Amino acid sequence: MARYLGPVCKLCRREGEKLFLKGERCFSAKCALEQRAYAPGMHGRESQFRRGRASDYSQQLREKQKVRRIYGVLERQFRRYYREALQRKGLTGENLLIILESRLDNVVHRLGFASSRAQARQLVRHGHFALNGRRVTIPSVLVKPGDEMTVLPQSRKLKYFKDVAKVLDEKNVPSWLSLDPLNMTGRVLNMPTRQEIDSAIKEQLIVEYYSR
Ligand code: SF4
Repeated sequence: MARYLGPVCKLCRREGEKLFLKGERCFSAKCALEQRAYAPGMHGRESQFRRGRASDYSQQLREKQKVRRIYGVLERQFRRYYREALQRKGLTGENLLIILESRLDNVVHRLGFASSRAQARQLVRHGHFALNGRRVTIPSVLVKPGDEMTVLPQSRKLKYFKDVAKVLDEKNVPSWLSLDPLNMTGRVLNMPTRQEIDSAIKEQLIVEYYSR
């Protein structure tokens, strides 16, 4: 599966806000956006001084790119999710966010097994998790209510997971998930509602972008 391999801090600088793509490290003083709060590239610094309000199209595009980058999804797959969201009942924008939230890599991150979605994606790819008792290596699998994911017994012996286990019971998991820190197991109680997903996202702009 293709994925973005470039420097992720550039993505935050391009969007002009912290997207927390590096997990814990985003809270350090070394955050690139805090040090260089302008877009990357030769004309990045100039662009912050440009006057005028961004066009509707520009706002829609930036919101779409921002969400795509937060969840680490490439354009083709993001468009596929949008088409699926269109077919579901309810508001398309909300449906899209629910689909993104139900990706396995996102759930692994939300449960506290990884500090970022990128790290969660790598852990899943390396086969450290089982979904409903079966080893899984596909980060884009969509989970559903009742699904249970657990760290495989052999992986729990690794230093990384031993360290994670020490802090797991301090983790606040979203109300649509439950976590059993002792057994390193998480369960999907129900699909998230819009209120349980990042409120800073303006999903309506994404719908407008794809409805042009
Ligand atoms: Fe974004 Fe984190 Fe890099 Fe800061 S440190 S620019 S929040 S990825």
